[in-house]
Amino acid sequence: MIDQIISEDLERIRSSLKGDLFAGKNVLVTGGAGFLGSWLCDVLLGLGAEVTAVDDLSTGRIKNVDHLTENPKFRLIKSDVCTFKRRDKFDFILHMAGHASPEEYQVHPIETLQTSASGSANMAEIARKSDATLLFASTSEVYGDAEVVPTPETYWGKVNPIGPRSCYDEGKRFAEALLMAYYKQYGLDVKIPRIFNSYGPRLREDGLYGRAMSRFIMQALKNEPITVYGDGKQTRSFCYVTDTVTGLMLLTTNQEARGEVVNVGNSQEVTILELAKRIKQITGCESPVTFHPLPKDDPKRRCPDTSKLEKLAGWKPQVKFEDGLKRTIRWFQTLNPATD
Ligand code: UDP
Repeated sequence: MIDQIISEDLERIRSSLKGDLFAGKNVLVTGGAGFLGSWLCDVLLGLGAEVTAVDDLSTGRIKNVDHLTENPKFRLIKSDVCTFKRRDKFDFILHMAGHASPEEYQVHPIETLQTSASGSANMAEIARKSDATLLFASTSEVYGDAEVVPTPETYWGKVNPIGPRSCYDEGKRFAEALLMAYYKQYGLDVKIPRIFNSYGPRLREDGLYGRAMSRFIMQALKNEPITVYGDGKQTRSFCYVTDTVTGLMLLTTNQEARGEVVNVGNSQEVTILELAKRIKQITGCESPVTFHPLPKDDPKRRCPDTSKLEKLAGWKPQVKFEDGLKRTIRWFQTLNPATD
């Protein structure tokens, strides 16, 4: 479904991208039915690209790309990224597939590792054979429970290699190392954004897939208790989807970003309790805030230093937290749970 909020947001992204670098290009988007992947498909088609989306629909949702299925320049292939094969040549591969929700990936630790490891190895080979640019969606989780905040790309991370989050963190760290090896050994044009918490329309809210942001909004809209883990003093820095997607698109075509890891996120840090309170305030709900045990190895603070992306691409987040939050809440208000 393309609604007004998403249409306006797509227009905002398009207006911040100059040139026609994607017109007529063949682009593969893995995780194309997911949150960020589906936004990228929309933007790329709007810029005149031919888009192949690959998704096994394990965490992505058909409804995110339903509106594209009639578009002759779009095709959705239901496949695992680890085994996906295609003879076509691609100009760009945006490798977004992965399990991003901590509660969900901890139930599927092997698949989560495989998607990052074998999935990225497969994409690296497809990119090498196509001589394509490969953008890999890495994550702030490579920094683990960071001791340097705001965290620059030069920080190596503090990750528990056998902890409950390691399937995600170490999988992404392996993929970064693998793709850097392709860059060094074959000169593959690799770009590695480390994406910090992003939010907006299409962020999954249901069950184990729900993230703090989307879950809290739905809890508030249903007047149910808002479930804060720990004392809620842990922080995250939330980046509105239009800013994240613009950052990813700018990096994809940036020549200076070859073989670089680059933080993509918003450096406005908020506590999880503050997030709950703001959502309560904006929605005017009567939900109580309830406190629950903090999951093991939950990072205490997360905030990016984004100066590298600012210098490389002249990028700065445009959407203030308050505005992004209001837009996201408005979008969730229009959701019809029956269409899941
Ligand atoms: N969180 C919470 N209640 C929930 C879900 C998550 O308090 O119902 C907390 C979680 O423990 C973490 C933060 O909110 O400290 C952000 O969680 P998110 O689901 O966005 O994933 P993360 O940023 O940890 O990858």
